[in-house]
Amino acid sequence: MTTPLAEKLRQRIRLAGPISVADYMAACLGDPEHGYYLHRDPLGRGGDFITAPEISQMFGELIGLWCVATWEAMGSPPQVVLAEFGPGRGTLMADALRAARVRPAFTAAASIHLVETSPALRERQRRALAGHAVTWHADTTTLPPGPLLAIANEFFDALPIHQFVRSDNGWAERVIGLGPEGNLAFGLRPASLRQDAPVGAVLEICPAATALVETLAQRLAASGGAVLALDYGHVEPGFGDTLQAVRAHRFDDPLAHPGEADLTAHVDFTALAEAAQAGGAAVPKALTQGEFLQRLGLAERAAVLARGKDEATRRAIEAAVQRLAGDDGMGRLFKAFAVAEPGLPLPAFD
Ligand code: SAH
Repeated sequence: MTTPLAEKLRQRIRLAGPISVADYMAACLGDPEHGYYLHRDPLGRGGDFITAPEISQMFGELIGLWCVATWEAMGSPPQVVLAEFGPGRGTLMADALRAARVRPAFTAAASIHLVETSPALRERQRRALAGHAVTWHADTTTLPPGPLLAIANEFFDALPIHQFVRSDNGWAERVIGLGPEGNLAFGLRPASLRQDAPVGAVLEICPAATALVETLAQRLAASGGAVLALDYGHVEPGFGDTLQAVRAHRFDDPLAHPGEADLTAHVDFTALAEAAQAGGAAVPKALTQGEFLQRLGLAERAAVLARGKDEATRRAIEAAVQRLAGDDGMGRLFKAFAVAEPGLPLPAFD
């Protein structure tokens, strides 16, 4: 099967030669005509994948309480930029703001800013957050100055990665070119990396993520606040190919349906931590998502929600807890990673 974007990419490669995995990912997700996120809502049962805020309201609520507690640790500044990167359907922010109403001073201080490129998802966010004053941004550079609290759930995994493979005679970059039948096919081109690694090792780097985190770290160090990212990825530095495509809740060949499958990579939290430190911010040890949510009171919140409910509802709440925090669900693979102004005690992390 081919897609309109596959045809466009084949043409581009015929004219200008093979493209990096990063260029391929950026086109698949963000091509102005055929990019995966631009014209669809990929989330939920009828879409391609489900994320934590879509599994249960508890996820966004606990993050809302984390924001309130972090704001208080910052000394309750009278104005704070409350930002979310890649907010999907806006569910997390809506649940967070509802839970945050326990501190009216926080909701009064917070101005809501969403960083989102997809017109289709901006529309979903507008509906989910009706009644709130919201400002949208195409990227983080236009966020207003001042203390910042930013949330990013499954955002960093969508940023384009480069892949390098260690061969017998040094490193090569993995590229996408054309196969014998003119189909999209992986290839290699020489690259100059210094790193040492065994032959066959795959190294992934995500300059878009590390540059963003370093810039945010500089801002946090200068103006205060914290950024919280939840995503799948590794804390130990490791080599490996983590590029993955997902379509209709199944893994797909990353080259099979460009523009019509979600394309992501695992987040290298060690690289993000180094970038944050280079930018002058503090980085507490990352937690598993399970540990993070339990420390924020997931079990207690579930008990409150289940009280007085029928058997089926209680079971559904228990199933959501397992999915969000259990080792077989998102609890272990997903990590909670924070970057903060130096000296700020971070709820759940300290
Ligand atoms: N956080 C949401 C959605 C995750 S999907 C949830 O947990 O349900 C990834 C989100 O990031 C989508 O909203 C997508 O449109 C957005 N996105 C992807 N690449 C982006 C980029 N470069 N800049 C801004 N938003 C981006």
